[in-house]
Amino acid sequence: IATDRDALEPSARRDRGDDADPAPDALAAELRTAIDRGQLRVEYQPIVSLSDRQMIGVEALVRWQHPRLGLLQPDQFLALAEEIGVITRLDQAVLAEATSEAARWLRATPDPPFVSVNITAGHLQDSGLVREIATLLGETGLPASHLHLEIVEGAVVRPYGPSLATLDDLVRLGVTVAIDDFGTGYSNLSYLRRLPVKTIKVDRSFVADICPPGGGPDPAGAEILVAIITLSHALGLTVTVEGVETAAQAEWLRSIGADSAQGWHFGRPVGMKAIRATIGAGRGTG
Ligand code: C2E
Ligand code: MG
Ligand code: MG
Ligand code: MG
Repeated sequence: IATDRDALEPSARRDRGDDADPAPDALAAELRTAIDRGQLRVEYQPIVSLSDRQMIGVEALVRWQHPRLGLLQPDQFLALAEEIGVITRLDQAVLAEATSEAARWLRATPDPPFVSVNITAGHLQDSGLVREIATLLGETGLPASHLHLEIVEGAVVRPYGPSLATLDDLVRLGVTVAIDDFGTGYSNLSYLRRLPVKTIKVDRSFVADICPPGGGPDPAGAEILVAIITLSHALGLTVTVEGVETAAQAEWLRSIGADSAQGWHFGRPVGMKAIRATIGAGRGTG
């Protein structure tokens, strides 16, 4: 947290023209109002099926269009948002934006990608989340099958908390739940099997370590990923791999049976207009 805020401090302080007031407090105050001021932006990144290269989904990723500091990335403000207690409101804003955008794709094109939205661990403890999502689906007309929610491993390590009840309710609603950044937490696949989860998203550090751009796959590391994919499939889970930056990585992942992938090779996160053009929904209304 300190690192992120320190990174922002110099320019924020320069712009403020004084050294007395620590910039992180200023940033916190600005972040509190950023949501209501409409300064959050959602970018969309393709999730592509490795067997036929179809764009099956799109991940919604939040940015903050800061009036002075420019377009801030999640690692520059999410920890702060959590710390000052606005992360749930932020997630809600992104959810609302992403569901209404995905509903628009549905009106404009016959078989649009699902939209996948990141949900903070704490948000799962919130009993209102399920009703909130049901309401959003009702208001936008987006079928639940077009909405995926990504939850990081760490959020679900406790098996019997409110989180699990929330996950069950979400699945009953028809929403797909994915475990994000798989391999960075402490869960394992036999544990995940007991959760109502359909997809694991293998953290991009796997690809970066095992099959770095410009090199071939490291045999020992490759075995681990093959085992993860094989076991996931045996458990009825689909596997999406994050951080695919080269054609060689994509081809290798396809060859070892990964279902889908996301990364710069297939497309960087882009704004609304660009993703509409990619989806072929650019001329729709709404
Ligand atoms: P994530 O959910 O694992 O999202 C994937 C991250 O990897 C994104 O970073 C994306 O831009 C980046 N990425 C995608 N492909 C590549 C690639 O080929 N190479 C590399 N090096 N990076 C790639 P981003 O947008 O900075 O988001 C970072 C994290 O912030 C996300 O990780 C997610 O955990 C969190 N996040 C983003 N939006 C939201 C949100 O609306 N709510 C919450 N709670 N968390 C969010
Ligand atoms: Mg994610
Ligand atoms: Mg991830
Ligand atoms: Mg991540």
